Amino acid sequence: MGRKVAFGAAVVVLLGAATFAALGFWPWPRLNHQRPTLPVARVWVTNDTLHPGESLGDVFGRHGIGTQMLADLAGRLHFDPRRLRAGLVFRFGHRDSASAPNDVTIRTAPDEETRLLRSEDRWVAERRPIRWTGHTARVEGRVATSLYDAMTAAAGTEPLDPDLRVRLAWDLADVFAWEVDFTRDLQPEDRFAIVFERETSERGESRLGRILATDLQVGPRRLTAYRFDASAGQVQYFDEAGQSLRRAFLRAPVEFRRVASNFSKSRFHPILGIWRRHEGVDYAAGSGTPVMAAGDGTVASAGWAGGYGRMIEIRHQNGITTRYGHLSAFARSLRAGGRVHQGEVIGYVGSTGLATAPHLHYEFRMNGAARDPAKVDLGTGDPVPPKDMAAFRRERDRLRLILRPQSAMVGRAIAGRD
Ligand SMILES: [Zn+2]
Repeated sequence: MGRKVAFGAAVVVLLGAATFAALGFWPWPRLNHQRPTLPVARVWVTNDTLHPGESLGDVFGRHGIGTQMLADLAGRLHFDPRRLRAGLVFRFGHRDSASAPNDVTIRTAPDEETRLLRSEDRWVAERRPIRWTGHTARVEGRVATSLYDAMTAAAGTEPLDPDLRVRLAWDLADVFAWEVDFTRDLQPEDRFAIVFERETSERGESRLGRILATDLQVGPRRLTAYRFDASAGQVQYFDEAGQSLRRAFLRAPVEFRRVASNFSKSRFHPILGIWRRHEGVDYAAGSGTPVMAAGDGTVASAGWAGGYGRMIEIRHQNGITTRYGHLSAFARSLRAGGRVHQGEVIGYVGSTGLATAPHLHYEFRMNGAARDPAKVDLGTGDPVPPKDMAAFRRERDRLRLILRPQSAMVGRAIAGRD
């Protein structure tokens, strides 16, 4: 009996409470229902980008800024508003959600932004530099199936996002462009260590600076490069003895980053990449990929040559000639008898002549006899000028301690014993 009464009373209390709650009368303080107070942003910010084919006025118009702004700013911008690339980032600041923007920031360059401010009814522009600070980083790794894979697995002093790793692989190939054909020479178990600059902007972005020093093991060859700024002005890479890595010929006339596979021997078409069969080296690359002159020389011919399709032959010093076949097109300025310089774009990869897929057929001939360009002895490079040699040695020794931390420790241990 008493139970029944207690139950009824409880129901009445709960119903009453529910009624109070539903009506908005809550007799107890609402401790748990209040949200934490967030600081209110001083400005409203929206971001946008320039779409392909759009003008500055289109983006501004989308955000409620009239053409008066562009009139105010005419001739005062530090960039050419007609030559902006799609994807350019805009940041619009408003006083509140309802008003038109009064503060626009445009990131016009990696190390610069332009800020447009409306004061009263007039817009003014100011250019602001973006500070980047650099520091030294180091990675080392072992080639597994490709240099890219090796970079992904490489251990270093700090994490590197995939984008930077790929760039580092390209830069490494550039440093050794005269020593190593990265598309053919690298093999599993080859190793590398790289000391490079890494830069961070005040906006938190990260980018790769230059390679400062690197060790590379390619089969039995051990190669080393130190970056050094000789007083002649040309920044170059030198070996341990201070000899420039530059040579009369590039090992490959197409950039590593543009070639489809860095293990071309095993990866693509069976007739491609086989050296003996057709006295040349083939590089699988997309149609239109730029082809460079391997060395300075004179254009002996540029035209149709049977199975070679569109072909260029360049005559160099010492009885050396190079040939570039299956091209889709020649560089516009190229003409027979004209001079070309090492690294100059002379034509574009194609599949003209006897070719089943776009690729570059490259031949290196000495007195008419075909030679494997990867194996030709190109001699030693120019040395560091004598007056810079002391400075080079200091820089080399400094970089070597960072490049090979283990040997640095051994060095210190030995020094400590003396
Ligand atoms: Zn070929």
